[in-house]
Amino acid sequence: NSILKVTNLVKRYNGGTLALKDINLEVKKGEFIAVIGPSGAGKSTLLRSINRLIEPTEGSIEFLDQRIEKANKSELRKIRSKMGMIFQHYNLIYRSSVLENVLHGRLGYMGSVAGVFNRYKEEDKQEAIMLLEKVGLEAEIYKRADELSGGQKQRVGVCRALAQNPELILADEPIASLDPKSSAVVMDAIYKNCKEQGIACLVNLHQVDVAKRYATRIVAVKAGTIVFDGQASELTEEM
Ligand code: ADP
Ligand code: ADP
Repeated sequence: NSILKVTNLVKRYNGGTLALKDINLEVKKGEFIAVIGPSGAGKSTLLRSINRLIEPTEGSIEFLDQRIEKANKSELRKIRSKMGMIFQHYNLIYRSSVLENVLHGRLGYMGSVAGVFNRYKEEDKQEAIMLLEKVGLEAEIYKRADELSGGQKQRVGVCRALAQNPELILADEPIASLDPKSSAVVMDAIYKNCKEQGIACLVNLHQVDVAKRYATRIVAVKAGTIVFDGQASELTEEM
């Protein structure tokens, strides 16, 4: 029941930085995993290699029995539709409404966000509204995304990812720009929904205490190498 298998992954950026050295990682269905490590360790490079926002240099990435690093454009689009992304800086379409942003996740990222209003069905809209209500955004549904606070924007980001009905959520420092209270609300929303729906999650976090609070499995990355992969309770101080 493994949904993701990363084997001997290497990433060397143009210019020479060896950001990932030899990463091996297997993720099972519904597993919630925190990826920790200092700034520059390679956490973001790892997540972005998995959905091929960046091209891996070497190695293989298998997701639901498909080889991501070999996928062509249309295969990649299909693969990505099963992977929800959550970004540190939200990456919402700020001229559009909260609802349109979530529908964009539901209907796929082809075409403009404004275009979603010609394509959605009533059930898509109801699903989007249900997700927004679950994270406490029922009063924000028709607001423009740029009217929201940071914590609210990230909750929209979470709903957009969930609206894809993904098998995997990749969250790259989702709370790094938020205050502690909003951070807890956002992490709770990610965790609860993933658990409820059996969605696996890889979440990059730089705070070890937050990682331990949510994840039973922790992967620690240092200088492009996985230095720990195991139970949160076994993580020692020097990681
Ligand atoms: P983290 O997410 O753990 O902070 P990153 O994956 O962002 O780490 O970065 C890993 C290493 O790769 C760092 O040394 C960083 O400077 C380098 N790096 C990241 N992005 C690029 C890029 N686009 N071009 C060149 N080097 C990069
Ligand atoms: P951050 O500011 O959070 O580090 P970036 O601004 O570097 O993120 O954006 C990373 C890339 O991901 C951008 O090129 C953007 O076009 C792309 N992107 C934005 N939203 C999504 C999404 N929902 N799914 C896939 N890719 C996306």
